[in-house]
Amino acid sequence: MCGIVGYVGHRDCADVLLDSLSKLEYRGYDSAGIAVFENDKIITEKTKGALKNLKDKLGDGHKPKGVCGIGHTRWATHGEPSDTNSHPHGSAKVSIVHNGIIENYIDIKNFLIDKGYEFASETDTETVAKLLDYYYDGNPVETIKRVLSEVKGAYGLGIIFADFKDTIYAVRKDSPLIVGVGKEENFIASDVPAIITYTRDYYLIESDEIVTLTKDNIEICDIHGKQLVKELQHADWDIEAAEKGGFEHFMLKEIHEQPTAFRTTIKPRIMDGMPFIEECGITREMLAGYHKIFIVACGTAMHAGLVGKYIIEKLARVEVTVDIASEFRYRNPVITKEDLVILISQSGETADTKAVLTMAKELGAATLSVVNVKGSSIARESDFVLYTHAGPEISVASTKAYMVQLSVMYLLAFELAYARGVISEDECRKYTSVLEEMPEKINEVLKLKDRCQFIASRLVNSQSLLYIGRGLDYALSMEGSLKLKEISYIHSEAYASGELKHGTISLVTEEMPVIAVATQSDLLEKTISNVKEVKARGGKVSMICSEKVDVDKEIANHLIKLPDVEDLFMPILAIVPLQFIAYYTSVLKGCDVDKPRNLAKSVTVE
Ligand code: GLU
Repeated sequence: MCGIVGYVGHRDCADVLLDSLSKLEYRGYDSAGIAVFENDKIITEKTKGALKNLKDKLGDGHKPKGVCGIGHTRWATHGEPSDTNSHPHGSAKVSIVHNGIIENYIDIKNFLIDKGYEFASETDTETVAKLLDYYYDGNPVETIKRVLSEVKGAYGLGIIFADFKDTIYAVRKDSPLIVGVGKEENFIASDVPAIITYTRDYYLIESDEIVTLTKDNIEICDIHGKQLVKELQHADWDIEAAEKGGFEHFMLKEIHEQPTAFRTTIKPRIMDGMPFIEECGITREMLAGYHKIFIVACGTAMHAGLVGKYIIEKLARVEVTVDIASEFRYRNPVITKEDLVILISQSGETADTKAVLTMAKELGAATLSVVNVKGSSIARESDFVLYTHAGPEISVASTKAYMVQLSVMYLLAFELAYARGVISEDECRKYTSVLEEMPEKINEVLKLKDRCQFIASRLVNSQSLLYIGRGLDYALSMEGSLKLKEISYIHSEAYASGELKHGTISLVTEEMPVIAVATQSDLLEKTISNVKEVKARGGKVSMICSEKVDVDKEIANHLIKLPDVEDLFMPILAIVPLQFIAYYTSVLKGCDVDKPRNLAKSVTVE
């Protein structure tokens, strides 16, 4: 994952790099480092832990002074988080920052050790730095080409050569990279938030393109040396979108942004009261013709896909398989040319999901991506893309991106059901208008946060939790459970309520709180029976249900009642208290909510 940045211009480079890195910390925070030209020499400063540690170390007095340099925030893949393993890595001749994994680093390392090289770190990255040193012949671009011909794996690389004190070189393969275009200053970065304080104009760099950057000039060539002319992109969202805006954490801010994000995502896809997704190139005829649908994603996005499966199968009566990308890609799935493969990814860079996209295309299936980051690899490489409009999501734990992924799943389900003739135009209009009312309903649910905070105070000392539900509520339980464990470090498991008695109920004691999601009226009685079974064994139950159901006070210890909407739409509301419960549990435990340990946001490694 990692975030890389580079700056060349007229400002204090160290300040710009540190500021840009602060916008990329969601990509990793195991360590941070910068390398800056000071009086023609490369000065490297790096340290283990979050960027703050580096800032503290450099203070005001110890920052290298210069106008050209590179920076890094790390999510360790090879070698523990430590000062030595921190990037930049290099030699007297060259310094690099890297996002990705070099698969053949051991071969390269052995080759270089034979040549007399020594290695300070355990990283794969250092082997590339030393290989650049080995092949360096005074011509940086030729050296980079030579090195890339020997390197296997994924990389976004920012490179400076000691002989070229006002130039940054950059290249990528399968890891994201952009070039920010300023006035008498230019930038490289893994993602747009890093540069937005300075410029909104940028180029998207493709795999195997090599960038040469000075303060007044940007050259981009392909691996054969051919100069490329690229289309300038423009980021139209506001800098505030990448800042906390008065909230204590990004996660809390992003939970509150959900009504707006939802509205912004569905609005352009509704025309005259009907879903309209043809903008992405998929027509109703095409939708009607797909044989099977696969939804493939990772983590939270996969959970959005599960909700998608339930509603698509229910409304459109077409078979939908949901899979975890890292499993799917290796199990030789039965995909044909008649099928549609839907890839969901917030960043559009998720390595496993991207690999599935490539595989699905090779097998001739149609591919549709649901992606939040414009111009990301998955968006560009899929046949069709439906962008979600959540704006930048900074908190590592995803909330608003999940919400907008859900909104797209609903639109798709309506469109598919209508296209396949399973629902009438009237029914389709009715569903669509309910969807349009959801932002208001989400706003109402946001008012339940104090209640959720109270419930969190009852969970905070637990060792382990169970989330239970049936049908759509089971899909939600999985997301609720993931949210809690990723940011509060409390173990939790999601279970289909009906499965409890086949083993897991033996775990239930007074020490094991249970969160029951029970929003589906046709399954309510059954879920209530399961809740009773849990309570009879001492379990403390918090239950999330609709305000329209009259649940006996004795059934659950704590109740959260959601505004009345049709069952089908309940996931859009029920996820909010689950997010709040996870959030407040994490806050009460004193965890780093936005930057949970061992995680990073954009998972660009396998
Ligand atoms: N493989 C490099 C390291 O461990 C970069 C990691 C990444 O981009 O996630 O330092």
